[in-house]
Amino acid sequence: MSLQKIIIAIDGYSSCGKSTLANELAKRLKYNYIDSGAMYRAVTLYFLRNNIDFTDHGEILNAIANIHLTFQFNELNKQSEICLNDENVASLVRDMLVSEKVSEVAAIREVRSFAVAQQKRMGKKKGIIMDGRDIGTTVFPEAELKIFMTAEPEIRVMRRFKEMYAKNEHITIDEIRHNLELRDYIDTTRDESPLKQAGDAILLDNSNLNKEEQLNIVMEWVKQKTVNQLI
Ligand code: C5P
Repeated sequence: MSLQKIIIAIDGYSSCGKSTLANELAKRLKYNYIDSGAMYRAVTLYFLRNNIDFTDHGEILNAIANIHLTFQFNELNKQSEICLNDENVASLVRDMLVSEKVSEVAAIREVRSFAVAQQKRMGKKKGIIMDGRDIGTTVFPEAELKIFMTAEPEIRVMRRFKEMYAKNEHITIDEIRHNLELRDYIDTTRDESPLKQAGDAILLDNSNLNKEEQLNIVMEWVKQKTVNQLI
């Protein structure tokens, strides 16, 4: 008996470990994992490279018309990596310059319509895990399993600091804290699809959970949802 494929939507604040969980789940379930944040980051990279004025709607629409986003599976790290007009930008989009502007870009209506339309198409065949800020509320309101992740702010800051410090020894904890606070503020207060817990999402606070404990909890939820699909 093979279990029915479902859509798993994971939303939450910045640096809650959404992508870590999504990656592990995707490996276990043999599902596709799509990091929707990487799409907003790639659009931001394009805007920065081309000096797009974030307030000029005509310029924004022209820019979007020239953006082609795809994901490329990297056999080495077993992850889907974002490509901007066929250039793999997975590492570039993690740069602090992009992190500083991405929430501003992601709040633009035209940018959201562009990304959401593509994300919806990716879910047509199910068997997908997508993480972001509006996946359970806007992209896949019909998702069978919705998880809303959170963790204590200082724990999130230290997790992101360790990750960024490995790539850039000049980064400071204060810079990281400021960036996370700013992004969470913009993401939760914007007009277009603000970050909020969907009514039917399960809350997962992983402040005191290790990766394995977290994965085991979520795998139980997946089992319940996939078994329910068969009834
Ligand atoms: O997930 P990540 O932290 O890489 O996302 C970067 C930014 O992209 C977020 O801070 C948010 O502003 C935006 N985002 C969004 N909607 C999503 C995913 C990300 O607005 N579904």
